[in-house]
Amino acid sequence: MSINDFEIHKVIGRGKFAKVLLCIQKSTGTAYAIKVLHKTAEDQCDPQTESNILRSIVHPFIVGLHYAFQSPERLYLVMEYVNGGELYFHICNFGRFSEDRVRFYAAEIFLAIECLHGKGIAYRDLKLENILLAKDGHVKITDFGLSKQEEESDDSSTVSLVGTLEYLAPEVICGLENSFGADWWAFGVVIFEMLCGYHPFYSDDREQIRYNILHSVVEYPDHCSPESKDIISRFLQRNPSLRLGASAADGLEIRSHPFFSSIDFTKLFNKEILPPFRPELDNDLDVRFFDEMFTEEPTVLTPTESAADLGGNEVAGFSFHGKG
Ligand code: AMP
Repeated sequence: MSINDFEIHKVIGRGKFAKVLLCIQKSTGTAYAIKVLHKTAEDQCDPQTESNILRSIVHPFIVGLHYAFQSPERLYLVMEYVNGGELYFHICNFGRFSEDRVRFYAAEIFLAIECLHGKGIAYRDLKLENILLAKDGHVKITDFGLSKQEEESDDSSTVSLVGTLEYLAPEVICGLENSFGADWWAFGVVIFEMLCGYHPFYSDDREQIRYNILHSVVEYPDHCSPESKDIISRFLQRNPSLRLGASAADGLEIRSHPFFSSIDFTKLFNKEILPPFRPELDNDLDVRFFDEMFTEEPTVLTPTESAADLGGNEVAGFSFHGKG
């Protein structure tokens, strides 16, 4: 298999070291999202780990990998095409979500993270841009470029400083050992953003964001229920050992929080709960939920395209929140 087996239809996104294309498989007419990673970026990212993790997981709320292949210059991950757009796009264009809608997405995201942690995988880049909405209204997590499979022999923690600043847990910012708990911190940030429509530590100054993450008191708007405030504040607990999700039975502790009391997690996993919103799409090639900044880009892959060109607004392992 090679990229010549596909017709490139649109550019739909850019990641840290990659470009994501909406492609049609010529032999079947099926639409796929193909993530193209330039091999010269391999010293800054680990495409093989991303491919291995995606291969090892089949989960209703995690994007599925269909094929992976390479050329001398690039690696290609052929994923299911999730065409309802990023939650980031929906919040930016249509505003914050109702609490019921937040609960539904949060519960699905929780199941995805719980599955990853159960397999010893720290996701490490949970953010609104990486949570996609499928056409049936369920979420799918994408982008495992920063994820880490913890080795059985290590102590399941790492001191690496990766992720997107706005979602970094205090222990990551401080360069302390961190592991699965950092995902639960980011989960708290995501729930807050879905509920409020803005970031809990927002500033246009990056130093100030760092300061806010380490020190500021999170203020909740009046429309937030006591249960939502409680679950967010427990995830945004600066001491990772006291954070919701820190105990060995973390899944249980989170499932039984009052915020999720109306959720039947078995039904949710089986997609037996009707999603609160279904993106309206004309057909599989409808890209209305993707930013025109990408979809209007030329669809050619030039031999001279450099890793820097592919990398968007990325600097040494950090990505920036938003589209720059
Ligand atoms: P990534 O480099 O994996 O973060 O991907 C960059 C962007 O491409 C994402 O934020 C999404 O907007 C888009 N994208 C990634 N994977 C898919 C997919 N499977 N289906 C649709 N869009 C995707």
